[in-house]
Amino acid sequence: MAGAIVVAGVLLAGALRTGTEVRSEIPIEGVFAEAPFREEVRELAFGTTLGQLLREAGLESNDHHEFLLAFREHGSPQRLRAGADVIFRRQGEEERIDQVQVELDADRRVVLRRDQAGRWQAGLEVLPTMVDTVYAVGEIATSLWNAIMDSPELDAVPRGDRRNFIDDLDRVFQWEVDFHREIQPGDSFRFVVERVKRPDGSMKSGQLLAAELVNDGDPHHAIWFDPNGDGEGSWYNLEGESVRKAFLLRPLKFSRISSRFTMSRFHPILRRWRAHRGVDYAADAGTPIEATADGVVTRRGWNESYGRVIDLRHGNGILTRYAHMQGFAQGTEVGSRIRQGQVIGYVGMTGMATGPHLHYEMHTRAGPVDPLSVDLPPAEPVPAEALAQWELIRDAHLTLLMRLPGADLLNFRYADQQ
Ligand SMILES: [Zn+2]
Repeated sequence: MAGAIVVAGVLLAGALRTGTEVRSEIPIEGVFAEAPFREEVRELAFGTTLGQLLREAGLESNDHHEFLLAFREHGSPQRLRAGADVIFRRQGEEERIDQVQVELDADRRVVLRRDQAGRWQAGLEVLPTMVDTVYAVGEIATSLWNAIMDSPELDAVPRGDRRNFIDDLDRVFQWEVDFHREIQPGDSFRFVVERVKRPDGSMKSGQLLAAELVNDGDPHHAIWFDPNGDGEGSWYNLEGESVRKAFLLRPLKFSRISSRFTMSRFHPILRRWRAHRGVDYAADAGTPIEATADGVVTRRGWNESYGRVIDLRHGNGILTRYAHMQGFAQGTEVGSRIRQGQVIGYVGMTGMATGPHLHYEMHTRAGPVDPLSVDLPPAEPVPAEALAQWELIRDAHLTLLMRLPGADLLNFRYADQQ
C-alpha cells in the first residue's frame, strides 16, 4: 500500500483586520457622492527605493520625509522586496495622491492616508487568512518522496506543499533516520500540518504540529511545542527531549554531496593532492544556504580560494564556514545574530570552484572536523518551567495524530512507563 489519506478540515478561522479605517456610528444622509478616484499600481523594481518610486509617481517632494516617517512605524523602507506592489490612489480633478498602499509581503501591507490636516498617517493591514489542518498517513513502498509525491489521495494538495511536507519531515527526523539509506518498504508515516489560506485562494504550508515515522518497526515521534507562542518553538519526542541537534546535518535542503571530508584528495584546480577539510554540496546557483546552528557572523567577505565566504561562531567554540557563495543574504553583516535554519546566502561558484556548489566546514577548538561524522551536541530539552504546559500540548497533538486511520500503529512509549 502506497496510499495516503488526507482529511483537510477547518479547525480555526481567524480573521484579522487592523486597518485605520474609521466608520461613523451615525448614519449620514448621502448628500455628497464620493469624489472620483483613480488607482494606479506600481511595482518596486529591483534596486529601486521607495523614495524613488514616490518621485516617479509624482508625490510632492516636500511630502516625502513625512510619508517615510509614517511608513517606518510599520515597516522598513530598506527591507521592501523587489516586485512589491505599491498602489497610489489619486483623488479629484487635480489627481492629488491621497492614499498609498505598500505591500510588505503576501499577508501584510502598510496603508498611508492623508488626514484632514493633510498629514500622512500610516496603518498596518493584515489580510484575513484562514488556518486549516492537513492530516496524512501512509505506508512507504519505495521512498518517502514517492509515497508523498505520487499518492493519488494527495492530489488535492499542491505539489509544492507536498514537497514542503517531505522537507519538514526530513528537517525533524534527519538525525534519527537517514531518508536516503535507511527507509525501507513497510515503513510508515503520519503527520499533521497547519496550512494558511489567503483570500485570493493561495496557500502556504504552516507549522508541522506532530509527526510519526515508523522505521524498521521503530517509531519516532516529533511534537511541536512553542511555549511562548512566538514561533520560536521546537520539536520534541514524547519524553520531552529535543529531536533536533544543536547543528543541522546539512546547510542546503535539496542537494547532493559531491565531495566528502578527507585528509587528502586530488584537487581539480590546483592539480595536486590536498586535504579537503569540508563537505561539498552540489546545487543550482542561487539555492538558499541555511545556517546550521544559532550563532554570530564573525567574517563576511572575499577570499581568493573560498570566494564569498561567511564564518559563524557558535557555542562551545565551534565555527562553521560557508564558501563559494554567489551572494550574501540581508542581515548577515559581521556581528549579526543568526538563527538555525536562517538563510545567510546563495550557492555560487566564486573563488576556486569548477561548478556551483557550497563548501561547508566545521571547526572545533582542536581543528577542522567532518560535519557528517562528528558527534553533534543535542539541542535543549523542554524547559523545566514549561513541563506542565508541554504535557498538555503533547497529549493534544497526539490526539490529532490518533484521529488518523490505523492509529494502533502508535506505540505510546510514554504511556508504557506510567
Ligand atoms: Zn570543498
